[in-house]
Amino acid sequence: MLLTSSPIEQVSFYNRLFYIKRDDLLHESFSGNKARKFYSFLKGDFSGCHKLISYGSAQANSLFSFSELAKLKGWQFDFYVSHIASFMKQNPKGNYRAALENGANIIEVGDLMPGELLESYVKNTIIPNEKNHLFVPEGGRCQYARMGIDLLAQEIICWAENENITQLKIALPAGTGTTALFLQQYFKQQKYDFEVLTCACIGGDEYLKQQFLELCLDETQHPKILSSSKKYHFGKLYKAFFEIWQKLKLETNIEFELLYDPLGWLTLLEHLEREQIERDRPVLYIHQGGLLGNETMLPRYRRKYHAKLT
Ligand SMILES: *Cc1c(COP(=O)(O)O)cnc(C)c1O
Repeated sequence: MLLTSSPIEQVSFYNRLFYIKRDDLLHESFSGNKARKFYSFLKGDFSGCHKLISYGSAQANSLFSFSELAKLKGWQFDFYVSHIASFMKQNPKGNYRAALENGANIIEVGDLMPGELLESYVKNTIIPNEKNHLFVPEGGRCQYARMGIDLLAQEIICWAENENITQLKIALPAGTGTTALFLQQYFKQQKYDFEVLTCACIGGDEYLKQQFLELCLDETQHPKILSSSKKYHFGKLYKAFFEIWQKLKLETNIEFELLYDPLGWLTLLEHLEREQIERDRPVLYIHQGGLLGNETMLPRYRRKYHAKLT
């Protein structure tokens, strides 16, 4: 399977023009930034490998993308989680459902020793007993991710040159920050005046900076972190999130996802306003996929805000 490059569309939102890189449209099931990050696994020769192993949350976008990758490569797939909610087990939805349908073994670890992380549990207890496997850290945060993100960067450069755009702001929300970091590094190394703007959806600004440092010590190659004036917890429901998601859908006709994109847009709009960035200054927002997660997020939002939001 070849991943073709994704289109870039122009939309208007809050009276400003934005370009949207539609990585959600890369491929019908293997899409978004996980497809970019897992590209080298898809393309590479891993003929000695029979099993893919990772870990994370039972609702993670990466769970579904890993399961697609394993299916495409003919690998078994073991995914370790600490807990699966009982309503989810009884009535699988979203990424969890789709991963099960792809044959994923989703393994519940249960309570760990106090202070022990799922990551170290998998590394120290599971991996030493495995053979012929490929272990990928949570969310694909590793150097392997670089190859696919370099391609994304090249597509953006190609498009910008066609459009005669020499200065560009590129916005995308971060989880591990891998996608934002590798993009900014590529532009910097290739001497393009493209500034990558991101925001911390998981764990706050300092945590995100630490994640950048683990992958690249040179801070001049780090993306710019846009702080949010309000604190939000990953996976929780916020009225402001649902409102901006609805407004985006109405004004741009594009469905975004509900875990990362609302904060991505809120911090971006705040930043453009605060820094008084001219309205005609080109801004490219990367749609990083993850729409399957809306299958669980939307009913949660509808239940919580039905009375107030139609
Ligand atoms: C995984 C994911 C992210 C976070 O990507 P990182 O490279 O970990 O920063 C953002 N948006 C969506 C839709 C995702 O699935």
